[in-house]
Amino acid sequence: MVFQGSLLKMVSVFNSPVDYYIGTGNDKIHVNSIIGKNLSLIYLNEINCIRCGRKTSKSFHQGYCYPCFMTAPETDDCILKPEMCRAHEGISRDMEWSKENCLQEHYVYLAVSSGLKVGVTRKSQIPTRWIDQGANSAIKIALAPNRYIAGLIEVDLKKYFSDKTNWRIMLSDKMDGTINLVDEKKRALNSVKKEFVPYFTEDTEIHTIQYPVITFPRKLKSFGFDTNNELVGKLSGIKGQYLIFEDGTVFNVRKHNGYKIELRY
Ligand SMILES: [Zn+2]
Repeated sequence: MVFQGSLLKMVSVFNSPVDYYIGTGNDKIHVNSIIGKNLSLIYLNEINCIRCGRKTSKSFHQGYCYPCFMTAPETDDCILKPEMCRAHEGISRDMEWSKENCLQEHYVYLAVSSGLKVGVTRKSQIPTRWIDQGANSAIKIALAPNRYIAGLIEVDLKKYFSDKTNWRIMLSDKMDGTINLVDEKKRALNSVKKEFVPYFTEDTEIHTIQYPVITFPRKLKSFGFDTNNELVGKLSGIKGQYLIFEDGTVFNVRKHNGYKIELRY
């Protein structure tokens, strides 16, 4: 089988384990079904902006051409730093987009991806966001009316919780299984500034996520199309947005958004 096209981040369906797909429509590949098989990914030396489609020699912000990177709402500062969002004041690169994306309810959550981390995501992005990060478990802690307020809560909680994921640990079986998310939610509630307490939810449900992985290789080596054109190997699993190969090579699909490839298996 052959798939040829521009890569986009894998689409996930929350099953146990998570189902992953590359491509769309008739060209959709159920990546889980290739686990245990040999596959090759060949870079065809072309990157197309995932927003406007134009060819770009370099990818900015995981898949955008430079003009889109500078002007599109999808690449504005508030995407990486929600506390910088100004849509609630009517300021945005594109207010229509911001109404659908920033001026919507957002969850602040705690997740165990490599270690414990705090994060923010639009309500409708749960559990996709957790799956993309490779979280093994997560708990919602606060519900904010927009991206900005969720960002302020996150900034405050960063004093007590990390907001980073270490991919080497996330893609291993060395993840900390002792973290009690209900206790951590209580700790967050007891630590956060008083003004944010009303946004906290009472819900204590712990969401757990299983990934389709046969074995986690011991030594990991990140593979990128900016230095190599061909990746060949036996797929041993998928976690987050990573393809994991038996020899320890790992490939971040999302990082290669817009890269034109041929996938054979
Ligand atoms: Zn573009």
